[in-house]
Amino acid sequence: MEKSKLVLYNTLTRKKEEFKSLVPDRVGMYVCGPTVYGDPHLGHTRPAITFDLLFRYLKAEGYKVRYVRNITDVGHLEHDADEGEDKIAKKARLEQLEPMEVAHYYTERYKHYMTKLGVLTPSIEPHASGHIIEQIDFVKRILDAGYAYESNGSIYFDVEKYNHDHRYGVLSGRNLDDIVTDTRQLDGQQDKHHSYDFALWKKASPEHIMRWPSPWSDGFPGWHMECSAMSTKYLGEQFDIHGGGMDLMFPHHECEIAQSTAALGHDSARYWVHNNMITINGKKMGKSYNNFITLEQMFSGDHPALEQAYSPMTVRFFILQAHYRSTLDFSNDALQAAEKGLDRLMKGIDALQKAPVSVNSTISAAELDARLAEAMADDLNSPIVISILFDYVRLFNQLSDGQQSLTVEEKESLLSVVRRWVFDILGLCDEKATTSAGKDMVTPLVTTLLDMRLKAKSEKNWALSDEIRDRLTSIGIRVKDRKDGYDWEIE
Ligand code: ZN
Repeated sequence: MEKSKLVLYNTLTRKKEEFKSLVPDRVGMYVCGPTVYGDPHLGHTRPAITFDLLFRYLKAEGYKVRYVRNITDVGHLEHDADEGEDKIAKKARLEQLEPMEVAHYYTERYKHYMTKLGVLTPSIEPHASGHIIEQIDFVKRILDAGYAYESNGSIYFDVEKYNHDHRYGVLSGRNLDDIVTDTRQLDGQQDKHHSYDFALWKKASPEHIMRWPSPWSDGFPGWHMECSAMSTKYLGEQFDIHGGGMDLMFPHHECEIAQSTAALGHDSARYWVHNNMITINGKKMGKSYNNFITLEQMFSGDHPALEQAYSPMTVRFFILQAHYRSTLDFSNDALQAAEKGLDRLMKGIDALQKAPVSVNSTISAAELDARLAEAMADDLNSPIVISILFDYVRLFNQLSDGQQSLTVEEKESLLSVVRRWVFDILGLCDEKATTSAGKDMVTPLVTTLLDMRLKAKSEKNWALSDEIRDRLTSIGIRVKDRKDGYDWEIE
């Protein structure tokens, strides 16, 4: 089957561009991942789901994709500029933990919630702290090219020199004058030649815990450096897509472009793709606002702004119902509508599955597939994909009373088209079906194991009895011994 002509909006050129000869057999995609110092929240969902959709779609279209999404576990300072305390170190200090304990805990939490949201694991998830050598090498290349200077053990990027030879601000459309007025004057900026220069390497102050040796000082890399170094390491000096949230365009991605161009002579990414932001009741979401909602709160409904719990698939479906470049406002009304919509879609698939067959077909699988492919190829237009699916759900619901009809073959084809788009590409699943099927299966399995455990106990085989209990506990099934047998519950 011929591939659809995928068109993506390139933030750098500010236009939609066809994704064609540029792309070899292996697509390289780099997306800026989370800074792991706090519980995953709604703000994490949109970039993860947007690029998961792109990843799934490219794979379904037969592309080989190497998808790299980094974990920022060092160097992201409080003010996103070059000053302030490291976000992870601060959390570690407050909770009396090792910084890597904090990073590990929140990395695991992030992965856990992403799995719930149906987000596939990327091909590689490199940690910034595991790539200090590569970052030091990258800093050296920029120094050798003459676009950085050393000052008191720290290395800063020479924005003015770079701007003279290239142009700083190509992505965000800012010029140096705007940036000067925007840059906050913070303490400790006296080492820089200009306020807009940014750190490639920072000398660690005595109280700074996370530090590594370098030719310049014991210190740590600047936040923007990890993405340049790790994307180059895993995807080469030029790769296809660099993604992230719009909030990262400046300064983070702008600095990445400058770093790559200074070190390699060209920008690394062919396409810069940015998802728009999430708002809650019209306000930007952030920790500084009261509208900060973690995914745990979202899925349990335990937050004053939430009228109820929303399931992971409801959240995913809600996000996919908006185009990734539009803003998306989380409100209870909109989420409840998404919950109903998802239910209607799943019931429609069920109706198709159960539909009687006939000698002729009034619905065409090939036509549905072509319409969906056309919508998705147009800059990942998932809302149109979903609205086309709803058009067909209406038809599927007319199969039972004979208003529409399908042959055996057409029904098979339709089911495979619908499953491919809904489950494989949109990444949705029927949560109700999986949980009830899950419970149905678990009960006889657990009962079998616990009966074996009772037998082991009666034979005084304590080791086996304990092992069965411990292994059930490790998968979240708590066993409660009773005088006359046992009881159990899923934690
Ligand atoms: Zn990045």
